[in-house]
Amino acid sequence: MPKGQKPTGFIARCPWCGVITGAMDYTRTGRKEAGTMLGQWLITGHVVEPRFNGTWSAEVQACQCSEPSNGDVTGLAPAQEDDK
Ligand SMILES: [Zn+2]
Repeated sequence: MPKGQKPTGFIARCPWCGVITGAMDYTRTGRKEAGTMLGQWLITGHVVEPRFNGTWSAEVQACQCSEPSNGDVTGLAPAQEDDK
């Protein structure tokens, strides 16, 4: 890509399941808002990919991993105590 070209948008991809979980039209998003979105994506561990085409589309889907939560995931696997 040519240097100095400004991205027209960004997508957020989950690095674990590869699903695009977010997309932003940078040409229609305020700088501040865009910065916030990008920051959130990065904080949640997403891979942010810029888009440079005038027209780009992204298929935004729900993350196929377990939903990221702030709390601990507990009680998923029932403990099986197999006493022989
Ligand atoms: Zn995922």
